[in-house]
Amino acid sequence: MYRAIALLSAVLFAGSISAESVVSYDGDNVLSIPVDGVEKALRSLIDNGDVERWGGNVTHLQIHVPSAKVEEAIGALARNDVDYSILTEDLQRDLDQETVASKNRVRNIFRSGHSMDWTSYHRLSDIHNYMDYLAKTYPNVASVASAGKTIEGRDLKYLKISSGNRNAKKFWVDGGIHAREWAATASAAYVMKELVENRSKYASVLNKIDFYVMPVMNPDGYEYSHTNERMWRKNRRRHSSGCVGADLNRNWGFHWGESGVSKNPCDPQIYAGAKAFSEPESQSIANVISSLKPEGYISFHTYGQYILIPFAFDDYTKPNDFNELRRVALKAQAAMKAVAGETYKVGHTPTLVGAAAGGSDDWVKGVAGAKYAYTFELRPNNDRVGFALPARLISVAAQEALAGVLAVANEV
Ligand SMILES: [Zn+2]
Repeated sequence: MYRAIALLSAVLFAGSISAESVVSYDGDNVLSIPVDGVEKALRSLIDNGDVERWGGNVTHLQIHVPSAKVEEAIGALARNDVDYSILTEDLQRDLDQETVASKNRVRNIFRSGHSMDWTSYHRLSDIHNYMDYLAKTYPNVASVASAGKTIEGRDLKYLKISSGNRNAKKFWVDGGIHAREWAATASAAYVMKELVENRSKYASVLNKIDFYVMPVMNPDGYEYSHTNERMWRKNRRRHSSGCVGADLNRNWGFHWGESGVSKNPCDPQIYAGAKAFSEPESQSIANVISSLKPEGYISFHTYGQYILIPFAFDDYTKPNDFNELRRVALKAQAAMKAVAGETYKVGHTPTLVGAAAGGSDDWVKGVAGAKYAYTFELRPNNDRVGFALPARLISVAAQEALAGVLAVANEV
């Protein structure tokens, strides 16, 4: 079903894309492997780009193994006596669960003037049209702006939500800097919906804070992950080598390139770009955040269920007010747990997921000066297969994300 939908989408939305260019994940495995076992058995496969790290923590990593490499990877693990567990033996089957079509799409457009819902994943145009709809329908509360254009010329839209208090503090929420993290984008869109369409429920926080929400920070990559390659992560910059993309969350200009990055433009995941802010998406968004000077910042990613506290650029450096950030993060943790009983671990980024320089939260905290800056890794946790969050769980993941935002905003 997934391939049929993908092919249809490609024909409908991108004309020239051929069926061959849609990537299938039939028979791909995702394995959970101890970190030292990955080093022992799979280092050369990782360096060659044959298998890739997805998620994990400081003890175990989730490794995506394409079907053509399964025999080789399993063989290497066995030869090295590495214990591992199989999270899925057919990634495509998992993805088929997430790509349910929106049953109400057409009905919604006629009934409510937009096609958004939180029971299916949506294309960029649905999300951007929904932002325009909110601004048009609630002009006293919501307004749309663009931070600039992507490499392929798409708008970097964000929504300002304000009750008109001129002394309001500012709070920025974003998602989707990594293309394939669809639940992060859906959750940011849900934050907009709630704060605008159900704003009376949140009057006390909206009276003192203006929110700025950008649900799709990487529109080119997001579209590509819908049309061609579900697991695409980077933007869509074309390099002279023929390789494509930079990791926008390794490209921000604070301790750029110091750890957890690749300097090889062909790296499928963590190429940091030619220099800090080499990419128009990260540069344009940073310009807007820089001029707004928000006091709160939360970036949604998937997955792992973490509330990550900066800095991430090395293994040990924390901001001076780390304990205050941790105190507030624990409030968010409690609020998120209250939604459905799920635990989001709180901690310093390198301790929970490893160091990586050039992330948006590091720059917003270290350069733009936002006091309360966090990265949320949303559902699922590391016991399940990462990016393919089933569509039926979008809604609860988004409610948890909103609860975390409100808990932090209350403390700003
Ligand atoms: Zn991410």
